[in-house]
Amino acid sequence: MHKAERLPVHRGPAAWNSILPAEPASPQLEGDISVDVAIVGGGFAGLSAARRLRLNDPQIRVAVLEAGPLADGASGRNSGFMIDLPHDIQSEDYAGKGVSADRKMIGLNRAAIDFARSAVEEYGINPAFFDPLGKINGAASGTGHALNVSYAEHLKHLGEDSEMLDARDMHEVTGSRHYTSGLFTPGTVLLQPAGYIRSVAAGLRRDGIQVFERSPVATIDKSGQSWELSTTKGRVRAGKVIMANNGHLESFGFARKRLMHVFLYASMTAELDDAALSKLGGRSRWGVTPSDPMGTTMRRIDTAQGGNRIVTRTCASYLPGMVPSEAGVERAAKVHRRKFADRFPTIADVPMEYSWAGHLCLSWNGVAVMRELESGLFSACCDNGLGTVRSTLTGIAAADLLLGRHSEISAHFLAEAEPPKLIPSPFAEIGANLYFRWKEWQAREE
Ligand SMILES: Cc1cc2nc3c(=O)[nH]c(=O)nc-3n(C[C@H](O)[C@H](O)[C@H](O)COP(=O)(O)OP(=O)(O)OC[C@H]3O[C@@H](n4cnc5c(N)ncnc54)[C@H](O)[C@@H]3O)c2cc1C
Repeated sequence: MHKAERLPVHRGPAAWNSILPAEPASPQLEGDISVDVAIVGGGFAGLSAARRLRLNDPQIRVAVLEAGPLADGASGRNSGFMIDLPHDIQSEDYAGKGVSADRKMIGLNRAAIDFARSAVEEYGINPAFFDPLGKINGAASGTGHALNVSYAEHLKHLGEDSEMLDARDMHEVTGSRHYTSGLFTPGTVLLQPAGYIRSVAAGLRRDGIQVFERSPVATIDKSGQSWELSTTKGRVRAGKVIMANNGHLESFGFARKRLMHVFLYASMTAELDDAALSKLGGRSRWGVTPSDPMGTTMRRIDTAQGGNRIVTRTCASYLPGMVPSEAGVERAAKVHRRKFADRFPTIADVPMEYSWAGHLCLSWNGVAVMRELESGLFSACCDNGLGTVRSTLTGIAAADLLLGRHSEISAHFLAEAEPPKLIPSPFAEIGANLYFRWKEWQAREE
C-alpha cells in the first residue's frame, strides 16, 4: 500500500482564483465509484492527462481527484507564462542544452501550447485566460542586457525570432522607466492560470469526466488486477492510476530523495484605481520575465483577467519538508514591495492585496518522472519549474503510455534518465537557501 505521508500545505491565498467571480465548485468524492483511470492531482498535468485520455478513447471512464479546491495549488499560484522557447531556469541566461536539444524542446513546448489552445477553443474558454501576447525579457543593468544579447544570439542559431527593445519601448509597454532594454519573443501565451484550470476542468466535466475537489488521496492499494484509492469520504476502484501530484509523488514514497522541493513567492496589487492607472500609463496587459533567471517577473493584467493589477514574482526557498512558512511569505512580500516601488515609483503606495508561496518540483538533472512506476500505476510528475508547458506534456505523455499509444511526447520523457539521488546532508537545505540568497543578491537590479 502507498500511503500519503503528507498532503499539500499552502501559505497565502491563491490570488488568481480569489480575483475571479465565484463559481460552483466540483463535488467532493463521497461514497464508492469505479472508473478505468483515476488521476491524482488536478493541476496542469492531471487535467491534461484526463483530456488526452478522453480524446483518444471517448468511452474511457476517468476520475480526477484533487486534494484542494481547483487552482489552489501551484497551477493557480504561478505567473502564467506558457513559454515556447528554451527557458532553463537553472542556467545563466535561459539557454538550454544546445541547439538540437533546444529545437526539440521548442517543438514539444509548442505542442503543449497547441494542446491547451485546442482545449480553449473546444470548451469556449474566455480568451482573456489564454492570451498569445508574447513576453519580454526585461533588463535593468548592463549585466542584464548582456544576458539578453547572449540569449538573442542563441535564439538566432535556433532560427527563432526575437526583437530587442530599448528603454523607450519598455516604458511605452510597461509604463516603467526601470528597464534599460528588453528582448521580445512572440510565442509565449499569458494565462490567467486559475481561469484556465477552472475552465478546463469545467469542460472536462461537460465531457463526462468526473472531477472531484477537496478529495485528497490518502492511500493507493493494489487489489487484484486493479487499484483502490481512498479519500477522506470515498473510495475509487480504478483499472489504472496516473499520479499527477508533482512533488507530492514523494509523499507516497516514490522517487524518494530524488526530488528537490523549491517554493517561489509572488504578490499581487489591489485593483489600480483611475488615478493610479493614469500615473502608470503603458499597456493594459504585458508580461516581463527577468533577463537573469534569478531576477523578478512582473505582469500587468486587466479587468477581463480579474482586475487592473500588477503581479510581482521573486525569491525562492529550498524546503525539503514541503511546508512553506508565514515568515517566508512575509520576507518575500517585503522584497516584492521594494521591487514594485523600484519599477513603479509613482504608484509605490498601491497596496499588495495578496502574497503567497507555491511549490515547484525540480530534479538535479532537469528531467521529469514520467513512466510506469508499477504495473498500472503511472507518473506525470516533476515540473522542473515550468509546469504550464512541462506538466501539460507529462500529462499527455502519461496518458499515451497508459493507452499503449506511441507518441513523440511520451518517447521524449521515456528516453530521459532517472533523477539522481540527492546526497542527504543536514547542510543541504542551509547551503541551497544561502545559494538562492546569493543569486537573488546578484540579480538584485533585475
Ligand atoms: C510563484 C510561481 C510562479 C510560477 N510561474 C510560472 C510560469 O510563469 N510559467 C510556468 O510554466 N510555471 C510557473 N510556475 C510553476 C508552475 O506553477 C508549476 O510548474 C505547475 O503548477 C506544475 O503543474 P502540475 O500539474 O505538475 O503540479 P501542481 O500544479 O502542483 O498540481 C498538482 C496537484 O496535485 C494535488 N495533490 C497533491 N497531493 C495530492 C493528493 N494526495 N491527492 C490529491 N491531490 C493531490 C495538489 O493539490 C495540486 O493541485 C510558477 C510557480 C510558482 C509557485
